[in-house]
Amino acid sequence: MKKEEAVLRLTEIIANFVGYTGKVLPDDVKAKLRELGAQEETPLAKIIYEAMFKNQELAVSLDRPSCQDTGAIQFFLQCGSEFPYLAEMEQILHDAVVKATQEAPLRHNSVETFDEYNTGKNVGKGVPSIFWDIVPGSDELSLHTYMAGGGCSLPGKAMVLMPGEGYEGVTRFVLDVMTSYGLNACPPLLVGVGIATSVETAALLSKKALMRPLGSHNANERAAKMEALLEDGINQIGLGPQGLTGKNSVLGVHIENTARHPSVIGVAVNVGCWSHRRGHIVFDRELNYTINSHAEVAF
Ligand code: SF4
Repeated sequence: MKKEEAVLRLTEIIANFVGYTGKVLPDDVKAKLRELGAQEETPLAKIIYEAMFKNQELAVSLDRPSCQDTGAIQFFLQCGSEFPYLAEMEQILHDAVVKATQEAPLRHNSVETFDEYNTGKNVGKGVPSIFWDIVPGSDELSLHTYMAGGGCSLPGKAMVLMPGEGYEGVTRFVLDVMTSYGLNACPPLLVGVGIATSVETAALLSKKALMRPLGSHNANERAAKMEALLEDGINQIGLGPQGLTGKNSVLGVHIENTARHPSVIGVAVNVGCWSHRRGHIVFDRELNYTINSHAEVAF
């Protein structure tokens, strides 16, 4: 395949995939919503879950987004250093977002800061957000797509704690965010927690944590235990579906961490909502692709 042809093909596949993920939730999120919905006992909580399930059916049958806020588009790349289109990827992702905005369609969610006008294309200065990891020697591209809605982005918070605050301080920070802003994000929530040295490292980890499949755990057993404890604690707040009370508040809690400076604990929280529009697609160098997030893709 000639390079120009391949670039157009890659742009088209990614545009179609982004549009599709706006209408169909990932398999793990759909399954978890079913599981949580079955555990609710009050009529109000049951009705809200039924509305969510009906919403998903109608999004497919009417070919419309599963939530009206199709978010700011974010991409997380693990791109092989030998992937043939590495140099073209930023332009490909930009063009794919413009194409998806027109064809899906997606809501216009890119307003130029200070100039205060909506570009109408979901692109702008630094948007879509693109976060790179280069994988030396690989010729594949692993791409996570994410629709960062306004409500689910709102609880995002990062700060650096004094070292003496310890893991209790991390817990207090996460629960403070959940009790103050959690219900703005259309629960049940996927809660991503990043722990590192400084705010920017913790913040990026907290968003990357949202790309992990539901049911996955931090590889460190102490971190995995903290994920479970936070999940129990946040569930006990009783936010329930859409924040209208219920047994469960979260889809899960994912912690991502690095080593850190011993004098500080950088911590951040990012939140995904019940309509967690995450996609994962992997390309080989011939542009054959595998979609891991959605088994029954139709586009
Ligand atoms: S929080 Fe999620 S479900 Fe609620 S309006 Fe925003 S994108 Fe939609």
